[in-house]
Amino acid sequence: MTPLGRKLAAEIEARGPIGVDRYMAECVAAYYAGRDPFGRGGDFTTAPEISQMFGEIIGLWMADLWDRAGRPARVNLVELGPGRGTLMADLLRAARALPAFADAIRVHFVETSPTLRAAQAQRVPAATWHNDLAEVPQGTPLLVIANEFFDALPIRQEVYFDGAWHERRIGIAADNFIYIPKGDPIRETAPARAEYATTLANRIAADGGAALLIDYGYEGPAEGDSLQALAAHAAADPLAAPGEHDLTAHVDFTALAEAARAAGVHVSPLALQGPFLLALGIDARAERLSRSLDPEARHAIAGAMRRLTLPQAMGSLFKVLAFTHKDWPEPAGFGA
Ligand code: SAH
Repeated sequence: MTPLGRKLAAEIEARGPIGVDRYMAECVAAYYAGRDPFGRGGDFTTAPEISQMFGEIIGLWMADLWDRAGRPARVNLVELGPGRGTLMADLLRAARALPAFADAIRVHFVETSPTLRAAQAQRVPAATWHNDLAEVPQGTPLLVIANEFFDALPIRQEVYFDGAWHERRIGIAADNFIYIPKGDPIRETAPARAEYATTLANRIAADGGAALLIDYGYEGPAEGDSLQALAAHAAADPLAAPGEHDLTAHVDFTALAEAARAAGVHVSPLALQGPFLLALGIDARAERLSRSLDPEARHAIAGAMRRLTLPQAMGSLFKVLAFTHKDWPEPAGFGA
């Protein structure tokens, strides 16, 4: 068993089965604490690790919104779960196209993993780090980006039997973690995610600004078990080797939108990542980048663009949702 597995097993033996939410939170924290999992040699690849264009486009989205919002003198640029810091480094480079915007922003990273904080410091040395959004200084408008952050926050699962939904928990039998009760159908809820969306929306309602949430997910409620583990780019058993695999679950964007609306911010329609990036000009950016390059590098850029935008790749599975302060302008990229 893994060190986390031994800890959880002892807890289960002493006090009984634990919720899927607690198991997932412990696994995610242990997993990221000690490793940089991104890229080909790692466990999975995220959009900013596929191409610099992803962070650049988000930088332009923010610069445009800031410009149309009347160019506030100071903005806290907040990234939730910045991974390697790649997205922010690309975003900041693109932001220099509008020097007044680059001057206005202060970067705040919300990151719990010491290993990833070190990686982020190499790419964005001027950032300030926090364990939680609540620690980001108040009283200044915020522009927030969260890419593949909400999918890492814990979910709960419920199983239907005897005419009612019952919480699905995790117990132990013969040194293996097992689901209790077993059964079908399953549904997922994510109070921790809704709570995070509420906190985020409350901050925007109080201080001004906007948030851009990008993740794989659906417009809920949906039934089914979406808890998944990834190791070396392949699916693994979520109950095997706790803390050694990345655990994620699809994001119910309807629940996040409802939480944000209740907190008094404007919520965009849900966009698909492909159309969103295309509306913001990723094809023009790819063309511009390709101009001075050799055929092999051009081919790589065209491939990255397809991967980010095509429906059969990340273009439809990944969705984009924006929260904006009600006095801020409509964000770009969500249609008319
Ligand atoms: N946004 C990055 C990384 C996504 S992976 C990218 O797109 O490449 C998830 C990130 O969220 C990691 O940086 C992880 O350490 C961080 N994270 C996970 N749970 C967190 C939590 N509860 N609080 C803060 N950061 C968290």
